[in-house]
Amino acid sequence: MSRKRRDRSWPPAPEPLPRPLVDNHSHLDHVLEVADGFGWRERSGDGPGDGWLDGEPTVADHLVRAAEVGVDRVVQIGCDLPSVAWTDALLRGPALPGARVLGGLAIHPNEAVLHAGVRELAPDGLEPHPRPHHAVPLDEAIAEVARVAAANPRVRVIGETGLDHFRAGEQGRAVQREAFRAHIALAKELDLVLQIHDRDAHDEVVEVLLADGAPERTVFHCYSGDGALAEVCAEHGWYLSFAGPVGYPASADLRDALHRTPPERILLETDAPYLPPHPYRGRPNGPYLVALTAAQVAAELGTDLADLCDLVSRTGEELYGPW
Ligand SMILES: [Zn+2]
Repeated sequence: MSRKRRDRSWPPAPEPLPRPLVDNHSHLDHVLEVADGFGWRERSGDGPGDGWLDGEPTVADHLVRAAEVGVDRVVQIGCDLPSVAWTDALLRGPALPGARVLGGLAIHPNEAVLHAGVRELAPDGLEPHPRPHHAVPLDEAIAEVARVAAANPRVRVIGETGLDHFRAGEQGRAVQREAFRAHIALAKELDLVLQIHDRDAHDEVVEVLLADGAPERTVFHCYSGDGALAEVCAEHGWYLSFAGPVGYPASADLRDALHRTPPERILLETDAPYLPPHPYRGRPNGPYLVALTAAQVAAELGTDLADLCDLVSRTGEELYGPW
């Protein structure tokens, strides 16, 4: 019996962008964990780092790959305790070739639940899988985020934080809400950008933001709402970061939201290694592929791609400051 093997190689590089662009949200440490990553390593030559030609791509490889298609800035998000430490070390380490990196830190809502000791079955049937770092109590984990963020001037974001009703049951939702509120307070205290994770929890996310007062610069990462929510966001001056799904054939709601978002509130991201742009669903994602999402968004909006890149780059600089 033969079954067609799914292609899990890295998608080919998109057409280089006419102007530089920012990937607003990426998980480079998780990108490194993607196995079978040989798809784009055929060229020979003097690439950065060891193992350019054999073994998995390094962080530098991914940053060079991004810069080659015009993605010259990346926001690296570390949203569990090991990733917080990894991101801090990356930002403090020697400058790498390729795209420049700033960081964001948080305890992800689904991590918050595990730190709080909640072990309930998710609504989707997924069993909790605590790891050793979840022995750290939630308030201590958030305190660690605060400590690292305050001490590293290249951390410009608190996120991703928010609510995940897809993954959390009743107890988990209560924990997520309190963790979200603590992160909102932290973003305001440190005067950093807030990046929100909102999965099946649109109304509650807005409710918490309005009740506690949203930070001055608030971004919905991997925006997943419809046009009506986009208008609520616009009303409050919040930013919408569109990821690969905006180009999926079934995502009419996201494209409606895109049209209803003020151009100066639009950001673009990969959320790599997750959610690769169309037509590469099921394959790994890397910061270089935000170039493809940008082309799809420009076509959808009927805008010149160079103008879109300039606009999004300017918004990125306004939000995060100099790279
Ligand atoms: Zn993410």
